[in-house]
Amino acid sequence: MTHRLLLTNDDGIFAEGLELLAHLLEESFDVVVVAPDRERSGASHAITLHHPLRAREIRQGWFAVDGTPTDCVNLAFHHLLRGEEIDLVVSGINLGLNAGDDVTYSGTVGAALEGSLLGHPAIALSQDTTREYDLERTVRLAAELIAGVLEEKPEPGLLLNVNFPPEEPSGWAFTRLARRFYREVVVEKTDPRGKQYFWIGGEPRWEGGQGTDWEALEEGLVSVTPLLTELTDHRTLEAGDRWRRRLATLSRRAEVR
Ligand code: MN
Repeated sequence: MTHRLLLTNDDGIFAEGLELLAHLLEESFDVVVVAPDRERSGASHAITLHHPLRAREIRQGWFAVDGTPTDCVNLAFHHLLRGEEIDLVVSGINLGLNAGDDVTYSGTVGAALEGSLLGHPAIALSQDTTREYDLERTVRLAAELIAGVLEEKPEPGLLLNVNFPPEEPSGWAFTRLARRFYREVVVEKTDPRGKQYFWIGGEPRWEGGQGTDWEALEEGLVSVTPLLTELTDHRTLEAGDRWRRRLATLSRRAEVR
């Protein structure tokens, strides 16, 4: 039976990375596209609660939504797909890396995360664009990976974050997230009316380390990182006597049970 895929992204429904990937995947799979009607990069896992959403079917099976990537996945599963089974949620291909700690800002990862939270396997795909890259090659590799993932019969909620290096990759690496920190993050400027304004940006610095996505990319490999949506810090929880004692003092003082 043909697998059915839900495609989305955060670069908008007209983005090249989505368009090329959807067209190639349509050759082998049933594809439904539900994506933001404009770029929503950096939207993370935001959901729209305070204004209505509109979904426009711009061509058969392609829905443009005036919301976030998470809205798109949510609307797809709860309404547009009307209970049709989806074998994999695919988010991307994003133009720009989503590696290391940056996954927490990413709308590309946010959409995949929503798929995972709704109980579906999901994959986020991003292309490093800091040097010359070949998006068509990345699309072919992504399609190969997607076919491989489907053959593995991924468990519900599996969440894979994938980053492609700019150059032709020499292989694949199964990785963990690197740590990232920014220097000179905020640039201060003055507008034409003499008022101060700010740009958040700056050059990222990476604390790579063995087995990280950053290290893999540096070595010219495609990085595949399995992510958890369960954010509990189990290490602190298990070694948590210090915190339990602290909370107990608060409770006694406030007589909270
Ligand atoms: Mn983006």
